Amino acid sequence: MQPAKEIARTEMKALRKTAKGAGHVAVVEVPEPFPGKNQVRIRVACAGICGTDLHIFHGDFAKVRPPVTLGHEVAGTVDAVGEGVTAWQPGDRVTVESEAHTCGRCEMCTSGRANLCADRLALGYGVDGGFADALVVRQSALHRLPDRVSFQEGALSEPLTVAVHAVSERSRLKSGDWALITGPGPIGLLVLQVVRAAGGHAIVTGTARDAGRLQLAKKLGAEAAVRVDEEDLPLRVAQITEGQMVASAFECSGVGAAIGDCLTCLRSGGEIVQVGLYGRPISLDMDQVAMREIVLKGAFVHTSETWKKAIALMAVQAVDLSVLVSENFSIHAWEEAFRRSESGEGIKYLLSPEETV
Ligand SMILES: [Zn+2]
Ligand SMILES: [Zn+2]
Repeated sequence: MQPAKEIARTEMKALRKTAKGAGHVAVVEVPEPFPGKNQVRIRVACAGICGTDLHIFHGDFAKVRPPVTLGHEVAGTVDAVGEGVTAWQPGDRVTVESEAHTCGRCEMCTSGRANLCADRLALGYGVDGGFADALVVRQSALHRLPDRVSFQEGALSEPLTVAVHAVSERSRLKSGDWALITGPGPIGLLVLQVVRAAGGHAIVTGTARDAGRLQLAKKLGAEAAVRVDEEDLPLRVAQITEGQMVASAFECSGVGAAIGDCLTCLRSGGEIVQVGLYGRPISLDMDQVAMREIVLKGAFVHTSETWKKAIALMAVQAVDLSVLVSENFSIHAWEEAFRRSESGEGIKYLLSPEETV
């Protein structure tokens, strides 16, 4: 039963997955959500398009629960608070943890690793996300945007947390260490920036289609940006590191060949942190892992603690997020924005509920 006050509420627009399978994505009118106990409603300023949104569009993301509003990289302004909310007020500029639900009781939840909870549901596939005029979230998911951080930068805080988790929480990279970053997409370029903020030296790899992104990697502090389709990568890495090779490799491309690149560029005893997803099993020379005592680690999304670290990096401008924003589209131009996101031109595209952006 819906309470009376919810029946009378107004409509809003939302970009939704309306059914399972390929396609079935459209801007539709839905009732504006109402914040319940310990919940906050956010008026969305903008939200980033991520690979997950593209997978959901194509029908190859099994966990999606249609009908559901897409978008999990959100920034906006608090506009209504539910019962029990005292820390937040209308007008507060915020970004929001994409994690919407975990069980709170399992071993992962109680040991600070709620990102690994089997019951985890996130915005944009499990519950309604941010490609809409507004969304409702738990109050504990909110993080205040530092004054000088724009909404567009704020929308990039979720992918930044992925990079912070990989570099600062999963890897053992120290100041002065060499890191290899395979794949100069949004996550790779954020991992690069977090490695630099931690005092590491970075080598970024890509292919012909990444020419612009590799140039940007150099601007963002990579010591070298290497095209693996035209250069001998291990040789280049040996030259650049004066024979040391890298201590940590962050696989951010989700392309099978890149994990081999990580292995050949690592020094013995080094670590591979797997960030990208392949969507299928891939092969790896495990004899190398055994004989050179390589450490293989996964890095998956983020925890609440990661968000605090990411916001702190943003507050002191240790990372440049605005340089990654290629264009901010109106939600009505979502098809063009999705097409551009997939094309590899540019880096990060955002959607805003405003008619003109
Ligand atoms: Zn994302
Ligand atoms: Zn749990």
